[in-house]
Amino acid sequence: MLIGRDELGHRSETVRRANLSAIVRELHESGPLSRSDLVARTGLTRSAIRGLIGELVAGGLAIEGPAPLDGTPGRPSPVVRTDPHGAVVIALEIAVDSLAAATVGLGGRVIDLVRIDLPRGKSSVDDIAIALAGLASSMRDRLPSEDTIVGVGVAVVGVVRRSDGMVSLAPNLGWRDEPLGQRLAAALDVDVPIILANEADLAALAEHRRGVARGIDDIVIVWGSVGVGGGLVVDGEPLTGSAGYSGEIGHIPVNPDGIPCRCGSIGCLETEVGSTALLRRAGRSPEGGHDAVDEVLAAAEAGEPRALAAFAETGRWLGIGLAGVINILNPELVLLGGRLTASYPFVRASLEAELDRRVLRAARGIVRVVPASLGVDAPLRGAAELAFEPLLSDPAAWLRPRQPMVVLATA
Ligand SMILES: [Zn+2]
Repeated sequence: MLIGRDELGHRSETVRRANLSAIVRELHESGPLSRSDLVARTGLTRSAIRGLIGELVAGGLAIEGPAPLDGTPGRPSPVVRTDPHGAVVIALEIAVDSLAAATVGLGGRVIDLVRIDLPRGKSSVDDIAIALAGLASSMRDRLPSEDTIVGVGVAVVGVVRRSDGMVSLAPNLGWRDEPLGQRLAAALDVDVPIILANEADLAALAEHRRGVARGIDDIVIVWGSVGVGGGLVVDGEPLTGSAGYSGEIGHIPVNPDGIPCRCGSIGCLETEVGSTALLRRAGRSPEGGHDAVDEVLAAAEAGEPRALAAFAETGRWLGIGLAGVINILNPELVLLGGRLTASYPFVRASLEAELDRRVLRAARGIVRVVPASLGVDAPLRGAAELAFEPLLSDPAAWLRPRQPMVVLATA
């Protein structure tokens, strides 16, 4: 079969775009690299790398310059890095009791970050869209140019449909079927993609790309707050399910004789390991919130038997819920994130004991349970990663000409 000239041109353009994507992704995820590193990591030829880097530098996405001196003799070979101001995303987060916004540059550098308490009594979808747009607006004003914004990512404490940002359920906010994506688009008034996802899914993405799970392709995160969320990375890719609803580890049924859950079911994992259950078992008011949970943590550190027993019971139920997840997915790492990170030392023993009892031996030999590493900002960092995805998939679409150079004629 003969291939026409048009088709050949089309194919080489497809290859060029895929190669640019491979290079930008490497630089974004790994940081500065020499040309030789890029040859080794992408499998492209040296001359192809040279040409593609030239395009990225001219298009404002990369910078090439001397390597930082590392004390080894000889001339350091130049390194290529992303230009953190060449492409910027806005990351937003709606958490249980706070709102956050950040601007993050290509390569993952956080340029600006602010977190405020969730305004009391103002948690309608419109109130929150306007509050987030306000936070984002002051950050946009501080950027050298709005033209460098390539996307907006939003982490939401709720069950979110990725295609349009419809929030199916967010019990902490009292939301059911709220068109958050649509309202945010109107409030933000930007002409770049706005992508929304669940906070635990995004915490998993951030820990996989920039945290303790870096380089590990099969991970599970359990994200604890008032509710309990979950996020999964399978074969190196976030598992989203058909609409974005997967990973709701908090709503695994664990106790047939349990109490009603905010999702409408009974005996979900969340009803046994959420902060309300912890506070009840520790003899505190279940309505005490984060401050009360911090008190139970302090009491456990001081060795108070009732606090220690409450955490042990949390660990036992976590183990029961996670055993099923581990038997299905065979992950290498399970991360305890959000409010569960601080509980790790006190839930560990009973959790591991339950896994020993219930997980298939082959899978048990592989899995490790560890505290998450990126802290409270993990969902926000994941939202930034999500917002970069369109650019990482096709950077050619975002290359822009630099200011035309002025050539001075000499007389
Ligand atoms: Zn539930």
